Amino acid sequence: KTWAHCGCSKKVMDSLKKHGYEKPTPIQAQAIPAVMSGRDMIGIAKTGSGKTLAFILPMFRHILDQPELDEDDGPIAVIMTPTRELAMQICSECKKFTKSLLLKAVCVYGGTGISEQIAELKRGCEIIVCTPGRMIDMLAANNGKVTNMRRCTYVVLDEADRMFDMGFEPQVMKIMDSIRPDRQTVMFSATFPRQMEALARKILNKPIEVQV
Ligand code: AMP
Repeated sequence: KTWAHCGCSKKVMDSLKKHGYEKPTPIQAQAIPAVMSGRDMIGIAKTGSGKTLAFILPMFRHILDQPELDEDDGPIAVIMTPTRELAMQICSECKKFTKSLLLKAVCVYGGTGISEQIAELKRGCEIIVCTPGRMIDMLAANNGKVTNMRRCTYVVLDEADRMFDMGFEPQVMKIMDSIRPDRQTVMFSATFPRQMEALARKILNKPIEVQV
């Protein structure tokens, strides 16, 4: 299987090649076409399997398929992840592609000053990579004038089991409740215990399951 089989555009394929991503890993070959189809997905995959590209490549296609891009509005895609390190890592993967696609990705995480992140969000972006607690703060900041979920239609829960273990479920659910129900939702988890099944049932709509 090649990147073209996965439905990647020429610009995305150029960036993949430039960064040494020759061909899809097994989880990418299964997950990317599934997510590109527009369906919700639950992927059981560990760090190191290549899951990041599996959710960001369909995200670019989703964003570029939107009829009109209103620049100074909230994100079209939101990626939630449990830690600041993961958020920064995912954001830097996104940035390998966003320049040539003329898109902007902003990283939002706690444990550091909020004002710089607010200033970045106010300039507008298509993609937010975040940890759940700081994202809640951002949605509440300045009476909701910093950012909003009105045009968000693509959501990723990365390392969902870890977010759950770290006690982020209420924050994740609060953010999900602020996102329109006609969104596409993608969830990745290393494990799939019973509590995760319950969460998945609440937030995913007839998901395709991919396990590697
Ligand atoms: P991830 O599981 O997404 O954190 O990816 C694990 C590592 O594999 C990262 O360093 C990626 O840069 C690398 N990687 C992901 N997909 C590919 C690919 N298709 N070809 C080569 N390396 C990859």
